[in-house]
Amino acid sequence: MYSIRQCVRTGGPVLAMAVLLASPALAQSFSVGPVTAAPGTIASGTLTVTPKAGSDDGTSIPISIIHGTKPGPVLALTAGVHGQEYTPVLALQRLLKSTDPKTLAGTIVLVHVANMPSFLARTIYYSPADGKNLNRVFPGKADGTLSERIALTITREVIERATHLIDLHCGDGNESLRPYTYWITTGAPAVAETGKQMALAFGMDHIVVDRERPADANASVYVSNTAITRGKPALTIESGGMAVTDEESIARIERGIAGVLRHLGMRADGPPPVAQPIWIQRSEVLRASNTGIFQAAVERGHSVAQGTLIGRITDFHGKVVEEIRAPFGGEILYVIGTPPISKGEPVAMVGAIGAAPQ
Ligand SMILES: [Zn+2]
Repeated sequence: MYSIRQCVRTGGPVLAMAVLLASPALAQSFSVGPVTAAPGTIASGTLTVTPKAGSDDGTSIPISIIHGTKPGPVLALTAGVHGQEYTPVLALQRLLKSTDPKTLAGTIVLVHVANMPSFLARTIYYSPADGKNLNRVFPGKADGTLSERIALTITREVIERATHLIDLHCGDGNESLRPYTYWITTGAPAVAETGKQMALAFGMDHIVVDRERPADANASVYVSNTAITRGKPALTIESGGMAVTDEESIARIERGIAGVLRHLGMRADGPPPVAQPIWIQRSEVLRASNTGIFQAAVERGHSVAQGTLIGRITDFHGKVVEEIRAPFGGEILYVIGTPPISKGEPVAMVGAIGAAPQ
């Protein structure tokens, strides 16, 4: 008579083989720069951007690899591209603790703080090292300034190794923002379609349809567009702002990543895609024509009609020098929430809801 123990022992190898055939185990480790993770493990380390003599001291980029036990996509997640955008940085800290590599299919590459000079100096938009906006210099340059060399390091070591990417942002330290996702339509049709499904899977209901990214891989400008111009579906998301680290904005990013992991088949469980997306078919960033003191007349999420006053710029003695008005009716996606404003800088972004894309 068989005991249960004998049954299990006899059936064991057959069962194991069936599981193996259904989802072959991953035998190979995964490396990003000097960091290597074996299957079913997490590895953390640093990418080094070497100094440039007479120019700067270089910098470091902290990364982690969560390497699953089964084959699957390589999802890159970038945080801290702008210096005072904290909610994505904190969301990735949580993801690292909460993700079990043993139940993961594929690999997640986390860039914890892409722009260390700006993060540590607490600067908005621009690097203290070279005055450049990191999210405007991709894919980067080997002989360039520090921001351009950070960009090249992320392009080569992270983006070119990934199959999918989410560039995680929020309003910068001066931007009061309602959460939304950018769906970029300018890639190859299959890449754009997968990007759209990722946008829905991320779960935030406002999706800005972005048709204006360059198609040239050598002048990709933005992080997410660097992936898209290399045939890798990608998103940019925004959740949080004003240098605040609120729970709601962090949890929204965690939830969004979990939704995309489920959508890509990297995890069995996760939240469902957004049920009723709101497609922002027309959007515009309104910019200051003057330098001075900005005071907003609207708040994030407000609905405005064409001509509604968005805010005023005064000179440094209090005289109004400019009134910014809505060019069309829509919703305030973000508005500058602190007084300093320089000519050419954004004061707000307005988006108008349109039909769902076909
Ligand atoms: Zn940003």
